Amino acid sequence: MTLTSLQFDNAFIRDLPGDPDQGRGARQVQGAMYSRVAPNPVSAPRTIAWSREVAASLGLTESDIVSPFFAQVFGGNGLMTGMQPWASNYGGHQFGAWAGQLGDGRAISLGEVLTTQGERMELQLKGAGATPYSRGADGRAVLRSSVREFLCSEAMHHLGVPTTRALSLVLTGDMVERDMFYDGHPQDEPGAIVCRVAPSFIRFGHFELPTSRGDINLLHQLADFTIRRDFPELTGTSETLYGDWFSEVCVRTARMIAHWMRVGFVHGVMNTDNMSILGLTIDYGPYGWIDDFDPDWTPNTTDAMRRRYRFGQQPNVAWWNLSRLAAALAPLFGDVAPLQAGLDRYAAEYAAQDRHNVASKLGLAQCRDDDLARMETLQQWMQQAEVDMTLFFRALSDADSNEPQLLPFRHAFYDDAKRDAAEPELLCWLTDYAARLQEDPLTPEQRRLRMRAANPRYVLRNYLAQEAIDRATQGDYEGINTLLDVLRRPYDDQPGREHFAQKRPDWAKSRAGCSMLSCSS
Ligand code: AMP
Ligand code: MG
Repeated sequence: MTLTSLQFDNAFIRDLPGDPDQGRGARQVQGAMYSRVAPNPVSAPRTIAWSREVAASLGLTESDIVSPFFAQVFGGNGLMTGMQPWASNYGGHQFGAWAGQLGDGRAISLGEVLTTQGERMELQLKGAGATPYSRGADGRAVLRSSVREFLCSEAMHHLGVPTTRALSLVLTGDMVERDMFYDGHPQDEPGAIVCRVAPSFIRFGHFELPTSRGDINLLHQLADFTIRRDFPELTGTSETLYGDWFSEVCVRTARMIAHWMRVGFVHGVMNTDNMSILGLTIDYGPYGWIDDFDPDWTPNTTDAMRRRYRFGQQPNVAWWNLSRLAAALAPLFGDVAPLQAGLDRYAAEYAAQDRHNVASKLGLAQCRDDDLARMETLQQWMQQAEVDMTLFFRALSDADSNEPQLLPFRHAFYDDAKRDAAEPELLCWLTDYAARLQEDPLTPEQRRLRMRAANPRYVLRNYLAQEAIDRATQGDYEGINTLLDVLRRPYDDQPGREHFAQKRPDWAKSRAGCSMLSCSS
């Protein structure tokens, strides 16, 4: 049986060397980019949510998706014609230290689909069982983290942030044991599998591993493959090609990070194995969304002490990760100048994108140097005053800028005392802002449109995801679908759905899953 007519073209395993060993036993895999391994069957797969946009781009109809056959395949119990499952081999720097071989410990790719629009879309199950890269772990994923990955992938896409996508969320019918805070309290949780979708799942860590082992031949093969398959637009001569490619990776990474900063997304685990070569947001684990504006915030309890991956640090960490990639690629270069140029390009592109963010978030035709300072002042004030980032910028988008008023911002504060102390400063800032707008060529309507397209009304606040998870754990999956539907149009006001655009409620401030997340998933 097949679903419609998915056309597979499994280039990764066709064109790159694979592991001759069979079986899922944990091992070090040398000289190969992947191991062939099938999903491990589950007891009662059931599709509980899917993305109609991703399904449509694959040519799948609603009746395809709701069929029992779909649940079997995307729950890991069977394969369609053309699927040739594998787990890929990569390393990475975790929290700043080289971690050696990591690999797809619980991700199993089913194949690469060529769509009728000529796109390549790799289908990958997350949580489909152990692989040679599982390192003693079970290769499974729990419902809560799968709901989070499913919803956030789609939310990010609709926000205009480059990301891997999610096709489906399948409940396995099996329980998975997790010790959520690594404190000796393991619990059984429902298992689930997300099918994620991207043109490529190649990570920085895929290049780091062969270089770390001195396998420059494999590095060469992988780089040439990646450029050919994933960057076909690059057609430089062999002398400039690698440099052009690295530069492009730097530019894409800069754009992705600038989007994160614009919408208030904190990845939480920016290890080099979680960095996509395509500049896509990948591996949704203990990520979080900024409620009260705080550059020092991280949702990841595993990183709570050092806060390496805190919100405000993300642009710097991306640079550091790119410098790890540069080091891994160095053997491809006779002269490292193009690698240095790529890193400089990152800094320049990020600076340009940051200016773009300032201009669009503040509704200016262009960002002048004094606007950078204006934004900086505003952000410092927001942090001190404990102001909700999303609510504040949205209120600013809708406020009448000619007449500075405090009322439109009242609902964005988390603390009344801090609000009372901070409002006079806000009035000063708004007065200066109003004067600045007098010098700007945009009409009020143009400004409003520009700001509303940069300042979302709906984001996947941590507590909203948690509420959907709580309901799903009780067997009610409607919360997932409702939230997915809200997040489809994050920049539109959606009458009747105001409660999805409110500040974090008090109960969620210190609840597990809402403000504290661990890597356990
Ligand atoms: P992550 O923190 O999810 O990016 O994972 C880091 C590494 O651990 C990757 O190699 C994952 O594939 C692996 N990993 C994470 N969770 C599991 C699991 N439950 N079973 C097997 N491998 C895992
Ligand atoms: Mg990962």
